[in-house]
Amino acid sequence: MPLYEYTCRECGRRFEVLQRVGADSTGVVCPGCGASHVSKQFSTFASSVAGGAGTEGAMPCGAPSASACGSGGFT
Ligand SMILES: [Zn+2]
Repeated sequence: MPLYEYTCRECGRRFEVLQRVGADSTGVVCPGCGASHVSKQFSTFASSVAGGAGTEGAMPCGAPSASACGSGGFT
């Protein structure tokens, strides 16, 4: 199961919850204040990928695209 990141709307605490894919925030409570008023955030992984597009979006090997990265064209 993936980890989902939540932010408590009451105290602002950020925490992670292990949930099934597609699960919503029902039953999720803030570990800091116990409030159920929480909002799901994008995962760290997803946000880092999206935020890197355009600036740090190059593939790890340095090629401009995934196809170039994996085809052996990069040496
Ligand atoms: Zn809280």
